[in-house]
Amino acid sequence: MLTIRNLSVYYSNIQALQDVSLSVEEGEIATLIGANGAGKSTLLKTISRIHPLTRGDINFLGHDLTKLSAAQVVKAGISHAPEGRRIFPEMTVLENLEMGAYTKGSSFRNNLDRVYRIFPVLKERREQLGETLSGGEQQMLTIGRALMATPKLLLLDEPSMGLAPTLVRTIFDIIQQINREGTTVLLVEQNASMALSIAKTGYVIETGRVILKDTARNLILNPQVREAYLGKRATSLKQSKGARL
Ligand code: ATP
Repeated sequence: MLTIRNLSVYYSNIQALQDVSLSVEEGEIATLIGANGAGKSTLLKTISRIHPLTRGDINFLGHDLTKLSAAQVVKAGISHAPEGRRIFPEMTVLENLEMGAYTKGSSFRNNLDRVYRIFPVLKERREQLGETLSGGEQQMLTIGRALMATPKLLLLDEPSMGLAPTLVRTIFDIIQQINREGTTVLLVEQNASMALSIAKTGYVIETGRVILKDTARNLILNPQVREAYLGKRATSLKQSKGARL
């Protein structure tokens, strides 16, 4: 569904991504794990054309995304729920959701109904200002707003950031539900253990480079990943089935 080849991205003269290649299959949850500053958010911003690329190819269902604007990427079927609950604080919940829909046509009502079904609290609070929501509710609004554009592929940037553990579980359950209902997900997370527990495929990114790609199952068993990202002591190397790139 999404294929990225040899992507290089800079901020002025600082290289944030170096020769990154990855792919996301239709229907799956793929996750990108890595430490602070590894380049995860930059990758999502580059896919959604918020940040320019210097080199590389990005293909999504036959579209060359490098030739599209950010708005055209949304129309092609990719929505981005950014890091840090970027809601509009002085707009109501409903107005925030309207901002995510690029049309007020017939799909608008269906999408709104779907968002309210997935996040009943957003329906209850639809007339409240965004700034009055709790952190978890703001995170739900960020994801809900992204769903309003009927994405085929949802880019999620750190949805668990700053949330209490019980809410983290809820958000991850909801991500699985959205995926089961037919939306492919590319999930960026520092909570590697939760991300790998729901993903099919995982990528590990370090200082702008993809250093490992494997099934999420194998990454969970990989001693390097266990030690660096899952807070567990490395066990037998024989358990590692991860292919070092
Ligand atoms: P985090 O989890 O902290 O968001 P990340 O893996 O998403 O980390 P990015 O935010 O993509 O990492 O940052 C990748 C690199 O690019 C880092 O070295 C970061 O300092 C740098 N960077 C990110 N945004 C900018 C910017 N606007 N200007 C300059 N450098 C930036």
